Amino acid sequence: MQLIFEKSKAGRGCTLLPACDVPEVQLPEELKREQALNLPELAETDISRHYTALAKRAYGVNDGFYPLGSCTMKYNPRIDEEIAALTGFTGVHPLQPAETTEGCQKVLALAEQYLCEATGMDAITFQPAAGAHGEFTGLLLIKAYHEARGEQHRNKIIIPDAAHGTNPASAVMAGFSVVTIPSGADGCVDLEALKASVDENTAGLMLTNPNTVGIFDSNILEITDIIHQAGGLNYYDGANFNAIMGVVRPGDMGFDVVHLNLHKTFATPHGGGGPGSGPVACKEILKPYLPGCASLTGEQPKLQMKAFHGNFLVVVKALTYMLTLGAEGIRNACETAVLNANYMMEGLKDLYPVAYGERCMHEFVLCLENLKKETGVSALDVAKSLIDHEIHPPTMYFPLIVHEALMFEPTETEAKETLDEAIAVMRELHKMAYEDAEQMHHAPHHAQIKRPDEVLAARQPILRYQAD
Ligand SMILES: *Cc1c(COP(=O)(O)O)cnc(C)c1O
Repeated sequence: MQLIFEKSKAGRGCTLLPACDVPEVQLPEELKREQALNLPELAETDISRHYTALAKRAYGVNDGFYPLGSCTMKYNPRIDEEIAALTGFTGVHPLQPAETTEGCQKVLALAEQYLCEATGMDAITFQPAAGAHGEFTGLLLIKAYHEARGEQHRNKIIIPDAAHGTNPASAVMAGFSVVTIPSGADGCVDLEALKASVDENTAGLMLTNPNTVGIFDSNILEITDIIHQAGGLNYYDGANFNAIMGVVRPGDMGFDVVHLNLHKTFATPHGGGGPGSGPVACKEILKPYLPGCASLTGEQPKLQMKAFHGNFLVVVKALTYMLTLGAEGIRNACETAVLNANYMMEGLKDLYPVAYGERCMHEFVLCLENLKKETGVSALDVAKSLIDHEIHPPTMYFPLIVHEALMFEPTETEAKETLDEAIAVMRELHKMAYEDAEQMHHAPHHAQIKRPDEVLAARQPILRYQAD
């Protein structure tokens, strides 16, 4: 497919600018660009076709099943988009006089109230733009807390080896060193390893529960207590909040600070580049260190993560979602997500061994190590073969503690028929692995893009058109 720059024809265009209704001003010479800006010149038809063609090559939740584990690719109700598109929300500026933005302030206050209630926390910031940004923010709160108590020597964050890669990355960015602890045979925190890892330098623990293998760690109260006893604080990675919302709260599990991925759990599409939102909620003890915004308060805050209130429209969608579902609906969504995951796991586990446990929460991890040994067909081959059946691949090779891992998260918005079909496809692929492994090595056969060189694409991405 040609790039839009390659489709450009000099002199073609479709700009329709309104007549200038202000006096013309000449720019000073030194501010003028030396060369004309190289913009593609196309007719409106061509632009429309270009983007329609691009859209057809993409695959999203609205195209079909998208069980990408850990990402909660659920259907996001249209009403949330419609409410967020109201001009009262889109046409507002945070520096308008406060009395003209009361509706928006109410949105923020209500969202704060509901999300604090759901997480068991006391205060929130909406500034962080993503989950990882929220982790970084939350860790800076932990750091500020220890510093304020004269305990700046607390520089270690304990993180289980099953954690999402952003956890250790955020800890290092926030200036901590990471102590990795191994998971036990059940995929959960190894209590002895945890006890052995705490000392007077422990700043805190980062944990997600249910963890990345989809299991709820039932020792959670003991875990968070070990950290508190050692003088540390507990950080809850709320990316898996879909599995517990309305049922159990991080605040009641002994956590002091949590980020939520509004773009996973609370009705903003995830993927495609954003905007997202990773609000950070915390207990009273961390509230004094929450970020602020200089241009809103007139005072220079100690911490500012983003302008104003972060990605406000994402918060509007989250609030709409919570208001339309209500407390009961939120609990129901959570329970259905867990039911769907268990249903799918049960339909597969005789052929594909489950990495850990008998029951899962909202997602489960299959281990294809044995299949690979016997047939040569890898987790990657199975994932690529799913594309030919119009199913988005699950998360592959994560968490790192499971070899040949495939991680499925069906979410609550999929019907039983969709799950049955996906189970049938997975069972068929298992059969095919023994009968025709070769063809699976070359899958997908019917997709626009076959097997890109993923290492090259990650290490040397070409993100900009080089005009000649
Ligand atoms: C998605 C995810 C994150 C990071 O969230 P982003 O919004 O992608 O930065 C962190 N932890 C877990 C467990 C996740 O699934």
